[in-house]
Amino acid sequence: ERTVAIVGRPNVGKSRLFNRLVGKRMAIVHDMPGVTRDLASAEVEDNYNLLDTGGIGMKPEMTPQMIHDATEEQVDFAVQAASVIVFVTDGIEGLTVIDEELAKQFRRYGKPVVLVVNKIDKQSAVRNLDDFFKLGLGDPQAISAEHGDGVDVLHEVIVSQMPPYKPPFYSKKEERRIRICLCGRPNVGKSSLGNRLLKAPRLIVSEVAGTTRDAIETDLDYTDSDGTELKFRLMDTAGVKPRRKLGSSLDYFSGLRTSGAIERTDIAFLVLDAMTGVTKHDKTLAGEVLKFGKGLVIVVNKWDLALEQFREQPVRGYETEKEFREAFAEAVDKELFFLPKSPILFVSAVSGFKVESILKAARTVDVTSGLQLPTGALNKTLSKLMDKQAPRIVGKKRFKVYYSVHVSSRPITIRMFCNREEQLDDRYRRYLETGLREAFQLEGCPIRLDLVGKP
Ligand code: GDP
Repeated sequence: ERTVAIVGRPNVGKSRLFNRLVGKRMAIVHDMPGVTRDLASAEVEDNYNLLDTGGIGMKPEMTPQMIHDATEEQVDFAVQAASVIVFVTDGIEGLTVIDEELAKQFRRYGKPVVLVVNKIDKQSAVRNLDDFFKLGLGDPQAISAEHGDGVDVLHEVIVSQMPPYKPPFYSKKEERRIRICLCGRPNVGKSSLGNRLLKAPRLIVSEVAGTTRDAIETDLDYTDSDGTELKFRLMDTAGVKPRRKLGSSLDYFSGLRTSGAIERTDIAFLVLDAMTGVTKHDKTLAGEVLKFGKGLVIVVNKWDLALEQFREQPVRGYETEKEFREAFAEAVDKELFFLPKSPILFVSAVSGFKVESILKAARTVDVTSGLQLPTGALNKTLSKLMDKQAPRIVGKKRFKVYYSVHVSSRPITIRMFCNREEQLDDRYRRYLETGLREAFQLEGCPIRLDLVGKP
């Protein structure tokens, strides 16, 4: 990640410098309300995020000790979050004890540090410049944030220290064969669904060479009704293809577990039986899918039977089949509350009703889980969520997130730089995940919050 953090004591000119570095370039300045108002951040033209840590830990009236603590807090954060640290000092004041302490810390962490001596437009600053070599952080960059002298050179130095730019993880052109697998307890209809799917008219099926008897994989090339070509690999189809039928459906389930199909898949179809609803066994399996961070589509099979029953003896309160279906979906959601909110499809393997639609749903979830969440919007959303419902206070300190960034996909992984990670309990974690999922429409995609606290 290309993140640059500006740190230094109060009043050395950090925010001036921030504005200078941002100002000349095309940049999106994130106005970050709420909890992260401590931090100013901007995405700068050369594909890096610039952070002004100046607000972290700052309060209106501060004793020298408080200034010292606040500065340390900034450094702790910057060391973790940034690939390059811009350490700003005040040339007029000259080298101070705090500067020396900060330098000591920076040397210990071994992160690239660009030492800046600001206010060089004043003669006294020029006279003090030599002292800063003593910090052992290389040649100081003499600048005037106020007037702009030296800022372009500084920018070049910063960019030269940064890791190379890697484009976002998901490119649209990429040929991706989406790995899918049908999981569910015995008799929910996995084999029936698989077999029905393989008979879909717009589907070209080819067995993947080299797969073993226990873990047969099949490639599915499907042309959607609107002409879109979708490519899948159906994992672990032992028991699906009639000529390979391994006997009881139990084999499928045990095969699925041993061959690690869930581990290797991109999207898991969690197949439920409409006639039994969600069972304990289903929940266990759902937990497995969640553990591996896989995309999820919930498939309620045997919907033909459920509808038949509904027609024969209508359930009170539900006038139409649609209402019945919606209530069913709601009940499933409730039972599987611990899962990410996922698409729920109602199908019948026996009649073929909606069976092909599961492919389209898998594709949608797969694309979503490969998206990159923009840093600005991500931080704004998290701030709003934390403002709306603050984490509880443990001891004296409140859990605080300085800055978050989406670091990888499948599963969507968000690194959160915070002051104390141990205070994020499961409930609050789920609250944040759900909020993110709603804001960015991440249905079916698990979200990992990767918390980074004090080193
Ligand atoms: P698996 O163990 O999950 O692979 O389940 P199977 O595919 O072997 O199906 C178990 C039983 O449910 C079989 O008797 C199927 O005929 C029946 N079945 C599967 N899907 C449906 C469906 O959509 N509707 C009805 N009515 N029966 C189904």
